[in-house]
Amino acid sequence: MSVNYAAGLSPYPDKGVCGLPEVFDSPEQLRCQVAALAQMIRDAKYLVVHTGAGISTSAGIPDFRGPKGVWTLEERGETPHFETTFEEARPSPTHMALLALQRAGYLKYLISQNVDGLHMRSGFPRDLLSELHGNMFVEECCRCGKQYVRDKVIGVMGLKPTGRYCQETRSRGLRACRGKLISTILDWEDALPDRDLGRADEASRRADLALTLGTSLQIRPSGNLPLATKRKGGKLVIVNLQPTKHDKHADLRIHGYVDEVMIQLTELLGLDIPVWTGPTLCESSAVDVKNLCRLQTQRSAGLLSGSFLHAGGIGASSAPSDTRVLFCLMTFSVSGGVGGFLTPLTEEVFLIADRPSSDL
Ligand SMILES: [Zn+2]
Repeated sequence: MSVNYAAGLSPYPDKGVCGLPEVFDSPEQLRCQVAALAQMIRDAKYLVVHTGAGISTSAGIPDFRGPKGVWTLEERGETPHFETTFEEARPSPTHMALLALQRAGYLKYLISQNVDGLHMRSGFPRDLLSELHGNMFVEECCRCGKQYVRDKVIGVMGLKPTGRYCQETRSRGLRACRGKLISTILDWEDALPDRDLGRADEASRRADLALTLGTSLQIRPSGNLPLATKRKGGKLVIVNLQPTKHDKHADLRIHGYVDEVMIQLTELLGLDIPVWTGPTLCESSAVDVKNLCRLQTQRSAGLLSGSFLHAGGIGASSAPSDTRVLFCLMTFSVSGGVGGFLTPLTEEVFLIADRPSSDL
């Protein structure tokens, strides 16, 4: 599927303000502003980041309201230019820098309006991530709510059935749930997912610093969540080239490319931006990331491309007492082309214990 997911949405008249001119801080101004941001992050106890389409443009996925955005061009009767597919898109330096911030303990929660799945595929822990508008790679059981992360895009949108059924066994000895799986991608009028919105709302209220990256903050309720942080006495920093709806509420406003800002920021904080080695799925922030990464490197050579690390408390009850985290590594065969279905081929269960990964 091309990245023109917008073409799959219903017609909608009110797409907000599109095509506003971009503003650029001078290099000197940018350095000062990023230094101020770094200090605010050091001082913050609970940083929440909000991301929009602007952080994926450098990955080849067009935004919506930028000068070459999907809706901006639509207003002019033009079609956007696509440089990639969702499956081939690689996380941008911004996606990976956010992972660095999370691993270093600065970033407590991430809220995204993006459906491209790049946060998830970058290995960002899903229990610290709200994807408010859905994810092209995730389908969900409409009966029990179990989510299935796929290696290919689901292929349908607007919460429509995907044609597949839930395989979840509800308890020992019972049959599989067999509920219909549906797309998680919202159409214009669809309500936001309760769980993701609830967690995003809670994190926004708890935050003492909200940082927005690459979003014009025009879509409600997503665009208004950073204001919940302001209302509780927290600070708001906005990084976006175009003006945003809430510029007047910002304590710091940075007009620069998000990748440049995040590269400078991680340098100032003394953090290395992790290298992306392929789609990585991390279900839980409880996973020992250093071991996870080493294992991924060690074991990935023999796996099919597109294999996933699935981290989580699988079978944790049977784990030895010195084991902190248990996860399984699965390889998949992909069938069915677009929206193809993943079939587990092998499943290896690893114990990550309190010892070097070379012992495993
Ligand atoms: Zn189910």
